[in-house]
Amino acid sequence: MASVNWEDFRDHLATADKDGRRKWLYPKQPSGRYTRARPWLGYLLVLVMFMGPFIKINGNPLLLMDIIERRFVIFGRVFWPQDAAILAVGLLLFLTGIAIFTAAYGRLWCGWVCPQTVMMEMVFRKIEYWIDGDAHAQRALDRAPWTRSKLVRRFAKHAIFLGLSFLIGNTLLAYLIGIERLFAIVTDNPLNHLQGLTFMVLFTLLFYSIFARFREQACTFICPYGRFQSTLLDENSIVVAYDHKRGEKRGFLHRAQPPAERQAAGFGDCIDCHQCVAVCPTGIDIRNGTQMECVHCTACMDACDHVMDRVGRPRGLVRYASLDGIERGERLRLTPRLAAYTAILVALIALESYLLFSRAEVDATLLRAPGALFQQMPNGNYSNLYLLKLINKTNHDVPVQLRLENLEGRVQIMGRADLVVPAAQLAETPVLIELPGERLQGSSTRLVVGIYTADGRRLQTVETGFVGPRNDRRGVQP
Ligand code: SF4
Ligand code: SF4
Repeated sequence: MASVNWEDFRDHLATADKDGRRKWLYPKQPSGRYTRARPWLGYLLVLVMFMGPFIKINGNPLLLMDIIERRFVIFGRVFWPQDAAILAVGLLLFLTGIAIFTAAYGRLWCGWVCPQTVMMEMVFRKIEYWIDGDAHAQRALDRAPWTRSKLVRRFAKHAIFLGLSFLIGNTLLAYLIGIERLFAIVTDNPLNHLQGLTFMVLFTLLFYSIFARFREQACTFICPYGRFQSTLLDENSIVVAYDHKRGEKRGFLHRAQPPAERQAAGFGDCIDCHQCVAVCPTGIDIRNGTQMECVHCTACMDACDHVMDRVGRPRGLVRYASLDGIERGERLRLTPRLAAYTAILVALIALESYLLFSRAEVDATLLRAPGALFQQMPNGNYSNLYLLKLINKTNHDVPVQLRLENLEGRVQIMGRADLVVPAAQLAETPVLIELPGERLQGSSTRLVVGIYTADGRRLQTVETGFVGPRNDRRGVQP
């Protein structure tokens, strides 16, 4: 087995020691313009995330991914498994959008919008700084013996973490089953909701483990996006980057040394203070170049700007820049790859729009009732029993009628005078279709049934087969 070169950052993980054990990170609390700006967006997103299950559009939730009931609601519009094409193109659209965005602007998503980073850095980490103090104090507290003060702090921190994880877990559950069912689980007899309560506990423990212990490892090991990054980024992509042309050769700053002398000695602006490393929540050194672990949290940019201010050099030694920008001073340009991604995105938007606008209000399937044979009626006609399934994709009740489109005959919805499909719901009913013997074309006759609204507007047509006797068996009961 090849030995590990511990001097080479590519040869080992920043969060593992020589024995392969996890190296716990104590990132220093950053401060600066980006650290001040990001929480505005972050807290807005947290608010939207927690409020999401309560927001209704036309009586439907903003977002619902009800896998058990196979019912999905996006911005108040209900989608069913029958809308798989729309959902698949929507997913492709989302992935292509991310690919384009990443190719142009790197992992801006991770640093500013990703729920993992937002919750970790702007909620859990801030609570930790508040209770345990900055990196140095955290390290000292970890090493300190178990005194009463340490116990109290640990208990307070983990109780808050657990409470927050419970809230996040419940919010996720609300996005999966809907806020009404979640409310029923919380208020009803627990014995009636053992399954729901189990998920509630599991989600709470999952989020607690992620935010209290697993942390940056989720981005490094689990999230596939970081791994895709190497295939999506190129020299033109804007990323959090260290300006090696300006920074190298790095070297410690001697206060007494005049800047001109330092420059003449071949030193750049980087004073090798490691402040950019000290604040990094994934433990990497951005001066090694773009790395999979970098979540573009901007902490190193703020830390370095602060250092540059103190040594009287211009800000931006670590900044948002592309490799081409650093090497040749080029701005972001439309590369062939970016143009190709954009063309695919436009095509997908067009396809998705077409699918959405041409989506039937009511989706119907009409199948012969399993095990039922055709019957001959007293009037000589033949009848078949069917099972009609109707999915109402609108937000209002739809009364429907059925008509035979290609043959003369009779359609009867069994057991009721009229059929109303409730808003955003599925309705099932048996249907009896009757045809005169002379209309039958052999043992199976093609039948087209139209689904109409009460005011006579055709919503959809469905095809099915009508089974009857062979021509030579007419008049004989099956
Ligand atoms: S914070 Fe800036 S100056 Fe200090 S080591 Fe990092 S890049 Fe160099
Ligand atoms: S390298 Fe900088 S931007 Fe990337 S994760 Fe570390 S601190 Fe954040």
